[in-house]
Amino acid sequence: MRMSQIFAPTLREVPSEADIPSHQLMLRAGMIRKAVSGVYSYLHLGCRVVRKIEEIVREEMDRQGAQEVLMPAIQSADIWRETGRWDDYGNEMFRLKDRHGREMCLGPTHEEIVTVTVRDEIRSYRQLPKILYQIQTKYRDEIRPRFGVMRSREFIMKDAYSFDRDNEGLDSNYSRMYEAYCRVFSRCGVDYRVVEADAGAIGGSQNHEFMVVSEVGEDALVFCDACGYGANVERAESARPPERDHDTDKVRTGIRKVSTPGMRTVEEVTSYLQVGPSKLLKTLLYMADGEPVAAVIRGDRDLNEAKLKRTLGVRELELASPEIIERVSGAPVGFTGPVGLREQVKIVADWEAVVVEDAVVGANAADAHLAGANYGVDYSADIIADIRNVVAGDACPRCGAELRGARGVEVGHLFKLGTKYSSALGVNYLDEGGVDNPVVMGCYGIGITRTAAAIIEAHHDDDGIIWPMSVAPYQVLVMPLNTSENLQVEVAERIYSELGGYGVEVVIDDRDERPGVKFKDADLIGFPIRVIVGPKHLGDGEVEVSMRSDGGVELVEIDNVAAHVTKMVDRELSALMPH
Ligand SMILES: [Zn+2]
Repeated sequence: MRMSQIFAPTLREVPSEADIPSHQLMLRAGMIRKAVSGVYSYLHLGCRVVRKIEEIVREEMDRQGAQEVLMPAIQSADIWRETGRWDDYGNEMFRLKDRHGREMCLGPTHEEIVTVTVRDEIRSYRQLPKILYQIQTKYRDEIRPRFGVMRSREFIMKDAYSFDRDNEGLDSNYSRMYEAYCRVFSRCGVDYRVVEADAGAIGGSQNHEFMVVSEVGEDALVFCDACGYGANVERAESARPPERDHDTDKVRTGIRKVSTPGMRTVEEVTSYLQVGPSKLLKTLLYMADGEPVAAVIRGDRDLNEAKLKRTLGVRELELASPEIIERVSGAPVGFTGPVGLREQVKIVADWEAVVVEDAVVGANAADAHLAGANYGVDYSADIIADIRNVVAGDACPRCGAELRGARGVEVGHLFKLGTKYSSALGVNYLDEGGVDNPVVMGCYGIGITRTAAAIIEAHHDDDGIIWPMSVAPYQVLVMPLNTSENLQVEVAERIYSELGGYGVEVVIDDRDERPGVKFKDADLIGFPIRVIVGPKHLGDGEVEVSMRSDGGVELVEIDNVAAHVTKMVDRELSALMPH
């Protein structure tokens, strides 16, 4: 490809609409252009990157025995009504009507349609298992599209679905997909973490997220370098605290009321009483499916509402109003405590809170707290559970080592759906004994276009993108510094055509531009290898070969350069290949 002809309009200025490096660089390198909010055109270079990621995904899916299909973007409302998700999906779904007034949507995902397709065709255990996948455009009407293709309204996804006779089969296909994902993201050259995640709207039991570690990530993660445990903080388990010292002979301070006039916050109370925030227990009142419930956690911790919801097994959870707090505790907001409260409401205590000795708690009376409160002596709970947010620095729930925190971009997700969709849609097969059973399903997504952005977040500098070889739009740039010098042009053209002959993806910058302009574009677009044909070394029959990643430069004889660069490309590619 010739730079003079390529459709890659580069920009010198940082576009004001773009907040994060990947969005800025995709615009500046001429990879994408915005059509409307959250919808983008992929120009030549952007399209090549997307196709390369797709090809890596396709190879790894095929390697695990998955079969490629292609399902429609336009789907009938009827199948979504069968699972109840026509209403549940809400405003994120692009809905439309055909000329007959029939309701349709642009598929935000494909569980319904793939399940219905299988339902109509699969009858017998002999037809199972199957893994079907597609690489296809999805539509989600995001309330706030942002970060370019990172969170857009039209995007390309790989979605795969497994169909098995039983949970054992599901486990085995889930492991295959897990392995495929590890290989995909290794090959894309990104530093990824696998974390346990919340299932959200899709549902199902076990699930994992593949996250690319990045400051711009929307998800907060914790992970353990010692044992590999990782989780989204929404989901991360806290380590079971050491058993409390139950020595009854131990002299305790004894519970007593202390005056805390107007002091409602953890900060105010602990500094006034001169105790650490871990010695104070917060008692938060919630409405859980319409019933008041109290949650007790340490003053230095944050309650995790998702965990509290799961612990209580409720659908709706919201903080109680000041009126309800007064009615239940008999005191204004800020003075609620667990002592005596169990007569009024169910109490859920965090397992770390109940081991705090001689705690400070609200007195359920205005302007007062109780000091010296102990679980089992002064108060009790209906449920003791893990209901707090885990933070970096906490002990790993698996091995006890210190957890590290990071932010991540979700690029892949694995779900064990079980029989959720097959039961709702009546997808059954006859087993060997002629008995009808629901098909057991899993689903597995990779955000293709988001992965492109995540790769750029992980690989760039102030000058532009630094593509890993596997996903670079082109592998090599040949740059004659001065196109009015015949010898430079002649040598560059020869190298260009030889590299093309070796099957290397090569661009020649044949533009009549100053070297400064050419170097700036080369850095911005991020060709991994650059061959510079300039006056300095031509006399010695040599050209400069440099790597975008480390700036390393070497001189190579013109006669050897094509073979040499081809080897470099192969070496870079095989370094990314998992063993
Ligand atoms: Zn660990």
